[in-house]
Amino acid sequence: MSKRKTQIVVVGGGAAGLELVRKLGAKYGREKYDIILIDRDRTHVWKPLLHEVAAGSLDPNLDEVGYGGHAARWGYRFFNGTLERIDRERQVVVTEPLLDEDGEVILDRHEIRYDYLVLAIGGISNDFGIPGVREHAMFLEHRRQADAFRKRLLNRCLRVNEQRERGEDAKLKICIVGGGATGVELSAELFNAAKGLRTYGLETFDEDALEVRLLEAGPRILPALKEDLSETAAEELRALGIEVKTGAMVTEVEAGRVHVKDEGVIEADMILWAAGVRGEYEVPEMSDLETDRIARFVVRPTLQTTNEDRIFAIGDCAHCELPGRDAPVPPRAQSAHQMASHVFANLSRLMEGKPLTDFEYRDYGALVNLSRFETVGNLMGNLMGGSMAVEGRIARFAYNSLYRMHLLAVHGWLSGVFMIVAGRVNKVLRPKLKLH
Ligand SMILES: Cc1cc2nc3c(=O)[nH]c(=O)nc-3n(C[C@H](O)[C@H](O)[C@H](O)COP(=O)(O)OP(=O)(O)OC[C@H]3O[C@@H](n4cnc5c(N)ncnc54)[C@H](O)[C@@H]3O)c2cc1C
Repeated sequence: MSKRKTQIVVVGGGAAGLELVRKLGAKYGREKYDIILIDRDRTHVWKPLLHEVAAGSLDPNLDEVGYGGHAARWGYRFFNGTLERIDRERQVVVTEPLLDEDGEVILDRHEIRYDYLVLAIGGISNDFGIPGVREHAMFLEHRRQADAFRKRLLNRCLRVNEQRERGEDAKLKICIVGGGATGVELSAELFNAAKGLRTYGLETFDEDALEVRLLEAGPRILPALKEDLSETAAEELRALGIEVKTGAMVTEVEAGRVHVKDEGVIEADMILWAAGVRGEYEVPEMSDLETDRIARFVVRPTLQTTNEDRIFAIGDCAHCELPGRDAPVPPRAQSAHQMASHVFANLSRLMEGKPLTDFEYRDYGALVNLSRFETVGNLMGNLMGGSMAVEGRIARFAYNSLYRMHLLAVHGWLSGVFMIVAGRVNKVLRPKLKLH
């Protein structure tokens, strides 16, 4: 009788999980161990691109990775399903029944055995329990939401264009809540898209037809950047015509209305919520693993969960405090990448019977891209003696390099380089806006 293979299950094929299964599959897949990726979607789009997908300046079909094909290429198995719960006693994960668009069951509830389990299910926007946010605001948590935003945006643009053709002073009012990278990058991207619409047949629509408000509860936007850089970004946004309001505490959201403490009500055709990251609401019910107050799995420095050696958590769904650091590892693409590399190394050590090592987070800085208008940020490094503020071309190059590194991590060196070249070619050949 053949010996049962060791099964490593990774749930979530995002920035962290997809990179991890590629590495595991390439090293251990096919013959040695059984590597399984579970994701609720069938394709992956890198999350930091979602604001471009939402504004129509990026066609996600060109940048998505199909899990089935990727799995066949790299020696792991893909299972399309949503994690419902973890049964630690029996070492199985249970997935929800898989439904089609009409609610018909395609696959029943499934149980998948694991010897080692890595949770990489990402996070969602934090609504801080503010009434009406989940019901009336839009989000950019995954591709479907970015597609929905783009479709609604285009429909509203068409309507405003028609009103302006009739001589009315119509405007499209968009309110974005959250002055972090997502909110700031989307605001600028919307102006980039608005400029292009005129050449795509919406002849009376331009930047003047767009009224964007960016609300931030804190004293300044982009708190992850140095103060002067966040001021540069705010000035750049204001120069585009975006109203940047700091100290704006949202207390309630209704259909088309945002209530702001001490300010009153802001009317908006579209409301986007991008205020911080938390774990999925269902996370605490999924298992008896320890979670923090925003439903992220608490992990030790080895990235194992606190009460289960066989289960790891990485990326946005993990709460990781490291000795000597005053804040947990931030929810960023670079953290997801570093954690994926570290869990890969630790799983390799486990297979070889060696002791696990502790994760060390290296902060390489933060960059924010204001579409084609400006890129700002700070880069960290020993060579620079700490943190160096960057703007313009250098900042844009470093920002673009983040995605290129993701492509290399997900496709390997050779295919990754081809993908980068194909991306450049597509930028020249393809339409600048996706209007469907
Ligand atoms: C618009 C936007 C812009 C951003 N820009 C930047 C940036 O410029 N720089 C930066 O460093 N970071 C940026 N981020 C943050 C960065 O994208 C995240 O930190 C990173 O993607 C986290 O990786 P992850 O693998 O933990 O989660 P994700 O990439 O979110 O992947 C999670 C995966 O889990 C799957 N999943 C979720 N729940 C389940 C379930 N129950 N069952 C099965 N599968 C599940 C999802 O389908 C997804 O594939 C941005 C985020 C957004 C939204």
